[in-house]
Amino acid sequence: MSKNASFEEIGEVLRQYDSFAVVSHVRPDGDAIGSILALGHALEGLGKKVRYLNEDGCPESLEFLPGSELVEVSSEAKDVEIEVAITLDTAAHTRVGESSLAAISGAKVLINIDHHISNPGYGDLNLIDDKSPATGQIIYDLLTALDLPISEISRDSIYVAVSTDTGSFQYPGTTQRTYEMAADLVARGLNVGEINSLTYDSQPYRKVELLRSLLNTLERSVDEKLVWWELHNETKERLGLIDDDTEGMIDFIRSVKGVVVAVFFEELDGGKIRVSMRSKDRRVNASEICGIFGGGGHALAAGIRMPGPIEDAREKVLAELRKTIEQL
Ligand code: 5GP
Ligand code: MN
Repeated sequence: MSKNASFEEIGEVLRQYDSFAVVSHVRPDGDAIGSILALGHALEGLGKKVRYLNEDGCPESLEFLPGSELVEVSSEAKDVEIEVAITLDTAAHTRVGESSLAAISGAKVLINIDHHISNPGYGDLNLIDDKSPATGQIIYDLLTALDLPISEISRDSIYVAVSTDTGSFQYPGTTQRTYEMAADLVARGLNVGEINSLTYDSQPYRKVELLRSLLNTLERSVDEKLVWWELHNETKERLGLIDDDTEGMIDFIRSVKGVVVAVFFEELDGGKIRVSMRSKDRRVNASEICGIFGGGGHALAAGIRMPGPIEDAREKVLAELRKTIEQL
């Protein structure tokens, strides 16, 4: 991995140039959208021109975030003339997506800010902190270190980025600094009850129907350490699901007592299979196991896009997991 840039080195680029694109990974989650909004709005506060890009735009579940209307679907973004592109929360260059990569291809400088251990450091400047539980927390560190403006939009976006990536400040990666950051955001006027309600208590009904159909496919290994369920194209069509609807679902089976690894298999358009994996034991490194199949992520949360059919993908991934779990 290439050497990290310092906050100051990144600050110099932020101050020196006038036009920026902030970009995050395909199928963005709260950390991806929250991080681009938080950093982008701070740059706007410095008087910079900012484009907010994502291959898939802003998911419906995050549209409550003020500023989310600024996020453009990359394939529809016109005249993206920018000097600096900043990828956020994006573990691999290709995870930016084809249209986003095309949109930022004219950038003179690429900055890569992320918290994934598997990030190879593909930027001209890289800021990769795998000790940070969310990219949003790195953005908070960057903005405070450089004394950049934290507007209400940046404040709320950072909170949602970190809250969603830490399972509401619960996962083991949550640090003292995370709580201090949250306290500071509250001191800056963040309304905790309101933002949590908008984030977690405003689900569409079809997500409950999705849960029902996933439960019908639920399976558990004999030793009870491995659980998995799967989502078929037919179910997606029947329920009118959008990509974002599966977000967070795996936490239901991850939470079961005795479970070491939970896996979610999903059919994607075009025949590929999305694998979403959660480990509860550091000795079973989800990022490494997903890496065997070309995926990646974090030790406890990782994913893969792999060839189908779903039965083959499932058996291959479960076989690797069984091998690792047997050695515990
Ligand atoms: P999720 O299961 O929530 O989609 O993703 C969990 C983590 O794994 C995220 O941090 C995400 O960046 C990473 N991840 C998910 N899918 C892939 C993938 O196909 N390739 C890589 N390299 N990382 C992934
Ligand atoms: Mn993240």
